[in-house]
Amino acid sequence: MTSADVLVECHDAARTFGRGPAAVVAVHGATCQVRAGDRIGVVGPSGSGKSTLLHLLAGLERPSGGRVSWPALGTGTGGSVPPHRIGVVFQGPSLIPALDVVENTALPLVLAGVREGEAQRRARRALQELGIADLALRLPEELSGGQAQRVAVARVLAQAPRLVLADEPTGQLDRATARHVIDVLLSAVDVIGAALVVTTHDRAVADRLAVRREMHEGRLLDPHGTQGARP
Ligand code: ADP
Ligand code: MG
Repeated sequence: MTSADVLVECHDAARTFGRGPAAVVAVHGATCQVRAGDRIGVVGPSGSGKSTLLHLLAGLERPSGGRVSWPALGTGTGGSVPPHRIGVVFQGPSLIPALDVVENTALPLVLAGVREGEAQRRARRALQELGIADLALRLPEELSGGQAQRVAVARVLAQAPRLVLADEPTGQLDRATARHVIDVLLSAVDVIGAALVVTTHDRAVADRLAVRREMHEGRLLDPHGTQGARP
């Protein structure tokens, strides 16, 4: 493996919100790498910094200390990462209420400059791969929580990113539906050949991923449960 296989790497990356006595350190210096083919679960209780870490890995949030880089993804001007190379499944509802399922699924492609017809074709294929082609014309309000999360996964699959970051994708779902959404996510990343990072507070979900990292009070622990050694 060379650095060309490293999709995202953070080195002592930290994120603090606010200033002075009110400052909250959401993530203390976190060091990690995600390589092609990785399946990583980040597990920790609510407030431990999982979403903030995921947003740092996605380039949606800038570190207040340390570095985040995307060696294999080709960083754009100003060190920003091209958004279509990373697909994010956000915590909670993320579909646009006024758009139907196929339009929601196609939206990131349209925003990335793909022609409408081609975007819709790719969106329909992604819905088919997830077994939800029959939902194509529904509005988000006509979907169950599990169906909406599957559409959010289809939206990522249609973009065919190299890295998929899913933030508590099963947080609001019952156990059986959660299991199904994880199945769908795992087979989706297999189909597009993407690496996957899933955050969760649910150990049963984390146990589905090959590698698990724990977060505790803003600290990313190493795979053995002690604070990560600095390289
Ligand atoms: P988790 O996803 O594990 O629940 P978060 O990353 O959402 O954890 O939050 C970690 C800590 O950072 C919490 O104390 C939270 O209140 C704080 N935090 C997160 N985002 C913000 C923000 N935009 N502004 C201020 N504090 C924030
Ligand atoms: Mg969170």
